[in-house]
Order: sequence, then structure tokens, then C-alpha cells
Amino acid sequence: MNKNTFNLTRRELLRNAALSAALLSLPNLTGFTSIPQYQPTGAPAGKTLYLTNAEVIDVVRGLIFSNQTIAVRDGIIRSVSSWSPEAREGDMVLDLKNQYVLPGLIDAHCHITMPGASELSARLLLDVLTQLKRNFVQQMRQGVTTIRDMGAMPKILHANIGQTKKGELIGPRVVYCNSFTNIQGGHPDLDPGEISILAGLVMSFTGHSNMWFKDTEELKEKMRQNSAGGASFVKLTMDKISVLCGKGKIPAYSDEHLKTIFNFAQKNNLATAGHIHTKFGFDRALRFGLDSIEHSINELLSPEEIETMAKKNIATVPTVSVIQMMAAPEAYDELPKKYRTDFIEQEIAERRKYINSNLAEFTELSIHKANLAHLANYKKYGCENLYKNKKYMANPEFYFNIMLTGPKNLLAMKEAGIVIGCGTDAGVPLTYHGTLWREMEILTRIGFSNAEVLRSATFNNAKIIGMVDKIGTVDTGKIADMVILKENPLKKIEACRRPSVVIKDGKLYDVGKIAFGT
Ligand SMILES: [Zn+2]
Repeated sequence: MNKNTFNLTRRELLRNAALSAALLSLPNLTGFTSIPQYQPTGAPAGKTLYLTNAEVIDVVRGLIFSNQTIAVRDGIIRSVSSWSPEAREGDMVLDLKNQYVLPGLIDAHCHITMPGASELSARLLLDVLTQLKRNFVQQMRQGVTTIRDMGAMPKILHANIGQTKKGELIGPRVVYCNSFTNIQGGHPDLDPGEISILAGLVMSFTGHSNMWFKDTEELKEKMRQNSAGGASFVKLTMDKISVLCGKGKIPAYSDEHLKTIFNFAQKNNLATAGHIHTKFGFDRALRFGLDSIEHSINELLSPEEIETMAKKNIATVPTVSVIQMMAAPEAYDELPKKYRTDFIEQEIAERRKYINSNLAEFTELSIHKANLAHLANYKKYGCENLYKNKKYMANPEFYFNIMLTGPKNLLAMKEAGIVIGCGTDAGVPLTYHGTLWREMEILTRIGFSNAEVLRSATFNNAKIIGMVDKIGTVDTGKIADMVILKENPLKKIEACRRPSVVIKDGKLYDVGKIAFGT
């Protein structure tokens, strides 16, 4: 060890001490003032909650049933009817005064243990830790009552899920895969140890988000460990090119690895979902029969390819909002002509409006400020030099190309009857938890009807995550997860930006009372 390394280590050691202490106490972290504490209300056990004068949206058919009474007992919807309630002692009646009722929203692609930050510096440490708790609250506040976590730091994930179950933290139901099932060096193509010298130590408290197997034997053993403890699917990363500026090629699974993964998934009744941006990954997904293609692809797909996808029952969660965010105009003095389409110009304007708005409800502002400052690195270093200068930023050209092709592919998939889900990829830089409304609005700008978008964010997502028998519609026998909106989202999709009440497991969360104290 040379002198420089030693000095660096010593300096970092002090930060590590504070970090370790903070992380160790994480499951019981209550001292953060900006995490709202709130106790939901509802009818006591065995008693009925009646929601009256409800305009219930049938998300499957895109219809509204007016003046309905929804009866909820012990967390389950017992009836939806036009009868008046016959309330008995101890029951609770809430007059919705003709507000609109959607099934609880589902974010089918997000990373709940990731803070949405471009850097993991000691400076932002406490805010990042706060943010990991806030992620849960932010999702619930926006009406998202179930999420599918697409790759997590497992120890933090389970500590926080435990807290939500005990009622210590407001949060959605979580369907998860634990770590990414990725080959060493595969996407997310970044060794946490590269981001920060702290990372190795952090991972020992948080659990590693990358499986990073080296050979088939290790893959089998790690898959067994990773799926233990309630994982319901396997997350794959299928491309062989990096999304990062200046990185280039990354390792990809061999056919033998994929055979092993799909055999394991089938035997253990696990779904498979794959991060795919390229034709290389897409072709393999078709060949192996992946259950869902995550994100969108940077080439136009042929009608035959889309037909095959439909025949094989492969769903997709396009996450257009994160692609819009990564397509950063900040990287260019002038945007290349090929990207100046009406759709892209419109999305650049929407993106600009969003990142410059007050996002206090969606992120710790220090994190957002650091993210905005990071955007200047594109011009400062030039994309090709970022990686070697230890600046890990998404390649805008890559994402602008997806903006050119992704929406066209998506409309063709819709025509072919492919199940299209709705997810944010929240947790990656500049994409924050509780922003499913952004994805929903982008889908309408691409050409989906409001009814299709609402179905996508509820019923389709429930299918994709394997829970359609329990959630995804407001129907008798389903879990009582609902979102109450003041305006009709079939007419105005922006109505989903601000629910008035969120109901999860039959408990009522008054959104106005869950505020972030910044
Ligand atoms: Zn993701």
C-alpha cells in the first residue's frame, strides 16, 4: 500500500465510521423529521367500512359506475353495489361525494432501495438514508399501493418492508427479486466499489444489489440463495453494451447461463423479467421466452418479431419516462437534427419543466440539486471521457435513439395485443419514487387512450406481477387497495397527480395529512 492510498483510506475511515453507525441503526431510524409519521384510519377488525357515492372506474372496460357503495371488511372488498349501506354499530361510513375510485396503482418497475442520486458522497449520506425511507412514503402518497422492485440492496429492502408491515413506515406492498441475476460486469455495469471507496463497506450492511456470478456452478448456488425469502421473479440484464458514457461493451450471459436461469425459474415458479434496450437482448428474450421485456428498444422491431412476442405471451414495461429523462439535451450545444422530431422536442420541453419545478414532494432537494449539477459534466468532460474520469452518467445518444424507436414499437405492440405495463424505474438518478403519473402522462402523449393507461397501471401491471387474482380492479373479493381522485381520470389523466385519499388493505390514508417537512 503506497502512502497516497493509506492517506485516502484514513480519511475515508472517519466517514465510514459515521456511515456504519447510521446504517446499522437503519431499521429503527426515526429521527428524520422529513419522513412523515401517520397512522391510517379505518373500521376496526370485523367491522365494515362503507365508501358511499363512489364513481367506480372499471379499468378493464374503461367505464364508470356511478353512485356505488363499496363495502370493505378486514382489508377485503366485500361488495360493490348501488345499494345504500346498512351500517351497524362500529361500522364506518365515508361519503366520497362522487369522487372517482381507481384500484390502487402499481409501479411495475422501480428500485425502492435506490435514492435517485447521481453521487453517493459522504456529503449526501444522511439525505440519501432519509430518501431510502421517503421512497416508500412517496409511492403511497401518489396512490401506488403495490410496487415491483426490480433489483435491490436486499438487507435494506427487507428491513424497510418489515417496518411497513409493522406500521412504522408508510409504504406500498412490495413484490421483489432481491439482487439482479447478472453476470460479473453486466448491467448495471458499475462496480459499487468504483463509485465510492465507501461502497464495499456499505454493501456489507445493505446487501449486494448485483449477483455477479462467474460460472454456471456459482450461478446455481447464488440463484438459490437470492430467491430464498419470498422473491417472486428473477431480474435479468440482457444487453451486451453499456448504457454509460465512455464504457462500451459489457459481458453477457452465455446460452448455457440462460438455460440454467430459465430452468431454475421454471422449477421454482419464478417469473423472468429482463432489462433490454437492444436487439441483441430482445432476440434472446424471444428465444428463451422471457415473461417481460423491461424498458424500450433502440431499433424498430419488425411486425413478425412483434407477432412472435405476442404469441409467446411476453409482456412489456416500457418505462418511457426514464428514457425521456436520460435523453439529456444538456449533453449538446445543439441537438443533432435526427433527434429533432416533434415527439422528442415535446418531451424535452416536458422534461425541462419537470426538473425545474419544485420537487420537494418527490426527493430530498439536496439530491435533486446534485443531480442537476451533474448534468454539466456532459459538456465539461465530453461523453466519451466521462467513464475514465469516474463520472458514471447515462449515454444520451443511446437514449435519444430509443426515443426515436421505442414509442413506435410500443404502439405496434399495443395493436398486437401485447400486455403493456406501467413503471417508472424510480431510484435511478433524476427519476424519483411516486412519479408513476409521469409515465402515465407520457403514454397518453405517445397515443394511448386514458382508459388504456389506467388499465396498464392497474390491471395489466397486476397480471405482469402475478397478482391479478388479488389486486388491479375494484371488485368483490379483491384486496381493498384504492385511490380516490377528485376529477375523472378517464377525461383528464392529470387527475392522477394528486389523489385525495389512498386506501391500502382497507386502511385510509388522507394524503393531505402526509406532508414532507422540508
Ligand atoms: Zn430498472
